[in-house]
Amino acid sequence: MSKIATLRGMNDLTPEEVRVWNIAEEIIKRVFTSYGYEEIRFPIVEKTELFTRSNESADIVTKEMYTFEDKGGDSISLRPEGTAGCVRAAIDNDLIRIDSPRLWYQGPMFRYERPQKGRSRQFYQSSAEVFGIRSPEIDAELIILCSRIWKELGIEKNLSLEINNLGDEKTRKSYAKSLQDYFKNYEEELDPDLRKKINENPLRVLDSKSDSIKNLLNDAPKISDFISENSQSDFNDLIFLLKEAGIKFSINQKLVRGLDYYNQTVYEWKTNQLGAQDTVCGGGRYDNLVEELGGKPCSATGFSIGMERLILLMKETAELNLDNKSVNLFFVCLTKESVQKAIMYSESLREKVSNLGIKINMGLEGAGSQFKKADKSGASLALILGDDELKSDTISIKDLRSNSDQEAISYDDLVKRIKKIYKKG
Ligand code: ATP
Ligand code: MG
Repeated sequence: MSKIATLRGMNDLTPEEVRVWNIAEEIIKRVFTSYGYEEIRFPIVEKTELFTRSNESADIVTKEMYTFEDKGGDSISLRPEGTAGCVRAAIDNDLIRIDSPRLWYQGPMFRYERPQKGRSRQFYQSSAEVFGIRSPEIDAELIILCSRIWKELGIEKNLSLEINNLGDEKTRKSYAKSLQDYFKNYEEELDPDLRKKINENPLRVLDSKSDSIKNLLNDAPKISDFISENSQSDFNDLIFLLKEAGIKFSINQKLVRGLDYYNQTVYEWKTNQLGAQDTVCGGGRYDNLVEELGGKPCSATGFSIGMERLILLMKETAELNLDNKSVNLFFVCLTKESVQKAIMYSESLREKVSNLGIKINMGLEGAGSQFKKADKSGASLALILGDDELKSDTISIKDLRSNSDQEAISYDDLVKRIKKIYKKG
């Protein structure tokens, strides 16, 4: 029969790759926790309306969403990003009214776009969202938290921060209008796609990759000329805090981000190590989204790390200390009866030395090849059980990493020996 392949852009992660992911995920979780952030989980599938309402004109909703009709005829979608679902969950569970929650989550997102290095159709994000705090201090906190994650992962030298101020709705409306006016003079130079963009969502042309647009943008109006005094003062506060914290950044007035709901501060962490897919993390404020999704008006801000790109960066630049030992102790079972005994011993050992984090496995079939398996497993000790050992109620131990002879000892002595070898610290 022919093999069945994965869907395009949906990748398996082998145990070897998962080792690197585990390092990243554990460190990220630890950092979130150390800032007092709490984990939240919410569904991967939601009503399509949740995403269309929060991101009306964004590419991820208009072009890239996996949308289906379920058996009841409702339109449902795989989440293309986490913020909308997190906001819905925070409203539904009344988290916002009671508190100003600082939340984090991680999991798969789905976008139907062209797969390439650093871009897949199922990809993972680790994200934070904070509700109910209006002041720019919280954006500083989130950026400092990101920077702590990069430090702990050993990749801080390869990431640089760009920030921008998108102002409030009034600012963006008048800026959009002035961009449209500016581009009117150059209509013949623009392809239909760009003309459409300028008509519908002019801010999106700012991060266009087209060279002709890039040139025109040099003389285009700048958003900073449209920012209100209050908004500028908040942005200045953020800049002050980042400088105080020793975080390097540059201001990029062309940074707009792909999602519709952002306002005021936005930022991206970029790397020059990965080629075209260079944004590893993006974030910003979205102070109107909670109300748009049916909650009481509430400030909000957050970021998302693209895990595939983070892992690529770690593999290319960080020193990874990969523990590739899947096992510490391996029972070699020479007879059928010894398998029973090995199961019993290993359960008892797991109980006795559970605090040492020891991994135990056993060979269940093919006595001859069991020593090979023991060696391949990375175990340091083979625990051999055959007729002789069963008769004398002993276990033969053999150090797999030295040339010493095997030695028959009692179970109690084995426990003592293991405690001595694997004692922490
Ligand atoms: P890009 O411009 O690269 O498409 P984006 O603006 O669509 O990114 P966001 O929606 O802000 O990305 O998502 C945050 C992060 O998630 C990105 O910075 C990136 O690291 C990651 N990401 C987004 N789309 C994908 C994808 N298809 N595959 C892998 N990672 C992705
Ligand atoms: Mg995208």
